[in-house]
Amino acid sequence: MTEASWTREPSDDKLHDECGVFGVWAPSHDPARMAYFGLRALQHRGQESAGIAVGDGRTVLVRKDLGLVTQVFSEADLAAMPGKVAIGHCRYGTAGAKGWESAQPHLSMINDVIIALAHNGTLVNFDALRAELIEMGIPFRSNTDSEVAAKLIGYFTQRGHRLRTGIAHTMRMLEGGYAMVLARENALYAFRDPHGIRPLVLGRLGEGEWVVASETCALDIVGATYVREVAPGEVIRISDDGFRSEQGVPPRPHADCIFEHVYFSRPDSVKDGSSFYLMRHNMGRRLAREMPVVGADLVISVPDSGTPAAEGYAAELGLPYGTGLIKNRYVARTFIQPTQALRQMGVRLKLNPLPDVVRGKRIVMVDDSIVRGTTSKQIVQMLRDAGAAEVHMRSASPTVTWPCFYGIDTASQDQLIGANMSLEEMRDYIGADSLGFLSPRGLIDCVPHGGYCTACFTGDYPVAIPHSFYEEKFLSGYKPHNLMQSSLESHMGIDQVAREVEQDSAARLRVDEKRSGVDEKNEATLSRKDGQDGR
Ligand code: SF4
Repeated sequence: MTEASWTREPSDDKLHDECGVFGVWAPSHDPARMAYFGLRALQHRGQESAGIAVGDGRTVLVRKDLGLVTQVFSEADLAAMPGKVAIGHCRYGTAGAKGWESAQPHLSMINDVIIALAHNGTLVNFDALRAELIEMGIPFRSNTDSEVAAKLIGYFTQRGHRLRTGIAHTMRMLEGGYAMVLARENALYAFRDPHGIRPLVLGRLGEGEWVVASETCALDIVGATYVREVAPGEVIRISDDGFRSEQGVPPRPHADCIFEHVYFSRPDSVKDGSSFYLMRHNMGRRLAREMPVVGADLVISVPDSGTPAAEGYAAELGLPYGTGLIKNRYVARTFIQPTQALRQMGVRLKLNPLPDVVRGKRIVMVDDSIVRGTTSKQIVQMLRDAGAAEVHMRSASPTVTWPCFYGIDTASQDQLIGANMSLEEMRDYIGADSLGFLSPRGLIDCVPHGGYCTACFTGDYPVAIPHSFYEEKFLSGYKPHNLMQSSLESHMGIDQVAREVEQDSAARLRVDEKRSGVDEKNEATLSRKDGQDGR
């Protein structure tokens, strides 16, 4: 397929998760087909490209392309991918180029072993690591942070002779939010950043068969039972030898992305026993208590993401809830560039009001969030044109004021309406009769107890951000927490870590020699393949 850049929908005014990941160890099933359906369930997390890699016991094959999962894979493609293990990826993509080369899973060679890596998140120190690897003579095919992670894993595995050691040492160097799945010919690996910023859950398919995925909705679709979250800093390895878990790096203060609860995750996905639907319903109830509209005739949502909160808002105040906007469900990302004239259709490509429902009424319109405000402005105008007497806008999350650096496509601060205007200025810009946001405290009270990243609402960044990453992202006068002056401060040298890996490996070999009683000469001729088998 020709490399091309995707256009953003004219009405696109949301934060976007960068990716969804899926991994399955299921020798008695059809892992490629399971990965396909897992990715179908995760399609909302990325529509730019899709890919699946399978390991069949001898090698790893990958198929990936630009487009939706259904556009990339045919029945024949899946039939040609038998295996024991599969990983899948759907990408939105902001870090690096947006062409075919950036589609995942990313294939890499470690001597004669092929690995495939799929990544959700952003590595904030990847440019410094990439520059260092290039200086060491390691070539790159893309400008993505995911390729940097794959190359580092390869580099350390070659020195330590164990894939899980290579992964653990790579995790020592990576900064940012990440959830990754990795397949080799005979094993599945899954690991997550030490703050647990990006989500990753574990499910069981049957005896000795396992699934990992960004969200539980992907477990449901393949019939897997939810077991638990992959712990921050944990490395999981699943193979014919069974399930093995170890702490790749020590956990740091938990900083689960709170925006997963607001918008990214599907409402039918579950966290700590509670569905995101229920959490959003409660956000709507809390919003109603904090920002009521007394005597409104009707509560409507901006479908679909605002619906659970709108239902909660109406229920809390005892107001009627109805459908005031119809969503065109067949609008998807496209290679077709709209002309300037078509651009002016704006949000109508996606949403159309129901005049019979809204005419003459005092409407409360609830959305999950307001990012740039451009969509809200158009919808309010559409409702007025359709005859609404009043339009009161409510956001079921606080004002988005700060950019995200951990895997979300947030505009720089100058594009965030909340960073540029007062509440009254925003109300005036959007054209609503009144405007209200859920408070940060209210949001925290509606999600399961735990540690959260709330940086896009508070500017309190849990992972230090190198200068190269935040440069020109903040407006003057804003003082975010946890900035660094240099991108080089964020990690120790690759060579330094490599020396430690080699020392660890040599020490391990000495222990193995003592244990096995095998003479030194034979140990020294340990075959490369055996030395890299990942155990
Ligand atoms: S800054 Fe916002 S979107 Fe980014 S990880 Fe933190 S909570 Fe999530």
